[in-house]
Amino acid sequence: MTSTVISSILPFNSEKINDKYLVTNMMGCWDALNEKEFHQLHSMRVLEGGGLFNRLLERGLIVDADNLQRVIDGYRSLNANLFTDTSLHIAVVTKRCNLRCTYCHAEGGASSEDMSIETAGRVLQYLFDVRNNSVTLEFQGGEPLLNWPVVKFFD
Ligand code: SF4
Repeated sequence: MTSTVISSILPFNSEKINDKYLVTNMMGCWDALNEKEFHQLHSMRVLEGGGLFNRLLERGLIVDADNLQRVIDGYRSLNANLFTDTSLHIAVVTKRCNLRCTYCHAEGGASSEDMSIETAGRVLQYLFDVRNNSVTLEFQGGEPLLNWPVVKFFD
């Protein structure tokens, strides 16, 4: 019985840095090759099953049926922002502050500029609709605690 190994060298970019060639591909995989290794790769003459072949397979510069899913998972992880909504959200619950830092962008406005409970409810609804298993809500201001009822509402 014979087995067939189907493998592919993924398209790659390269740059010579000192005496090594940095090789990268769109999947976020990379390796640093010496001159001889690079020329083997560049001329598509990597001996299947050899040391360089196995190393490039491990590094995701070559794919076959065994490592393809791992390379895809790595790509998904590297580009997680393309597949899920953002995880960090910021609620400015007030522009008021009891301090006056010179570099501050908040202008110490009136309490009428505080976030209302109604708006906080809409923020909460939005957060429940976010397509991400891990969501962080950060309170900003002003000094968020000056609008305690709204901060407490989020709790
Ligand atoms: S909001 Fe922050 S930076 Fe601005 S005055 Fe208050 S403490 Fe200072």
